[in-house]
Amino acid sequence: MNEEMKTDVLQHIEDNEVVMLTRELVSIPSHYMVEGGETALAEHIQRRLTREGIQATTETVFDERSNVSASMMGSDEQGKRLLFCGHIDTVLPDGMDHEPFVADMKNGLLWGRGSVDMKGGNAAMLLAMMAIKRSGIELKGSLHYAGVVGEESPNNSEGAKHLVARGDVYDYAVVGEATGLKVAGFHKGMSWLKVRVKGKACHASKPKNGINAVSIASRMIVALEDELVPELAKRSHPYVSAPTLSIGRVQGGLQNNTVPDECWFSMDRRLIPGESIEGAKGEIQKTIGKVAAAYPGASFTIEEEPETEGRSALESGIDNELVDALVSEIESLTGETAQVGGVDYWTDGAHLARMGTKTVVFGPGDIAQAHASTEYVAVDQLVACAKIYARLAVNLLL
Ligand SMILES: [Zn+2]
Repeated sequence: MNEEMKTDVLQHIEDNEVVMLTRELVSIPSHYMVEGGETALAEHIQRRLTREGIQATTETVFDERSNVSASMMGSDEQGKRLLFCGHIDTVLPDGMDHEPFVADMKNGLLWGRGSVDMKGGNAAMLLAMMAIKRSGIELKGSLHYAGVVGEESPNNSEGAKHLVARGDVYDYAVVGEATGLKVAGFHKGMSWLKVRVKGKACHASKPKNGINAVSIASRMIVALEDELVPELAKRSHPYVSAPTLSIGRVQGGLQNNTVPDECWFSMDRRLIPGESIEGAKGEIQKTIGKVAAAYPGASFTIEEEPETEGRSALESGIDNELVDALVSEIESLTGETAQVGGVDYWTDGAHLARMGTKTVVFGPGDIAQAHASTEYVAVDQLVACAKIYARLAVNLLL
């Protein structure tokens, strides 16, 4: 019965339709430099869903940039709630070595900015939803889609945070970022931390009268790399790689004949599940505090930059009914053993999981092509993914 319904739903997904919808989404630029950002794309998605008889709305989140969301309510008000979620912004198209918005097809690949990160995933989710609608199947639970703004730098996941702030509660969420059709119940968190060092300025002809903030900062950086980084490399997690710390920027000093009283540097710290940002800051404080102690009169602060606030690790895990259902549908559709574990990159899934929603990252394509000068998604994965999403919805909501 269940299997028959899944087969019936899949008849409403044509392979070519998944490709065509991805091409449409890619052809509408939606990076932060576009006026209104993602709004034109959000409105396009809304029109497409409405045409299918699915109720969809757009909602301004900030700077005229709009989320798009859609719901298909089930017959049972107490039924489970499943959310398909994807960010609809992309990184900038600058420096690409092919046309960013033409969405060319070549060698079984669909090319363009956002094809793999993550308009392909969005298209697959939308097609899954449309197929369920077209089939007329009556689900007990409800199926939801959210296309969210501002996941890419310099933004701070305003769209996903908006869902959380609105108080929407879901039992399950799938974030369709590129995992190569691997099921990820874990990913790393990321935190950008800035250290400001304060010394004392004086004339460079008498440097001993001052406290050189640039010298202190440089010794702090060496201490972090020599002492803390090797400690982080020893930590492990079964499904993501070891935590990291990388110095990204440094700035200090005004002119050569003045001993600088200020210098700052900043770093990217990737956290594994189980690590906290407060804990990470504490370790950095301890390491660089030893350096500062050798300079009486010097001081420093550590603060998190706003771009990464709340970007903790995903710890939803792989022992739950969402992962079980997804694995079963992958294996039924592809005939291959599903891969289950984690990914190293951060996603909006961490925000959704904070609501208590069981969350996985699962989507088409290889993350290696995300943010790259060459970006494409494999068509066979796009099509398989749309079908797996549709089967998953039936599995969890029937
Ligand atoms: Zn992405």
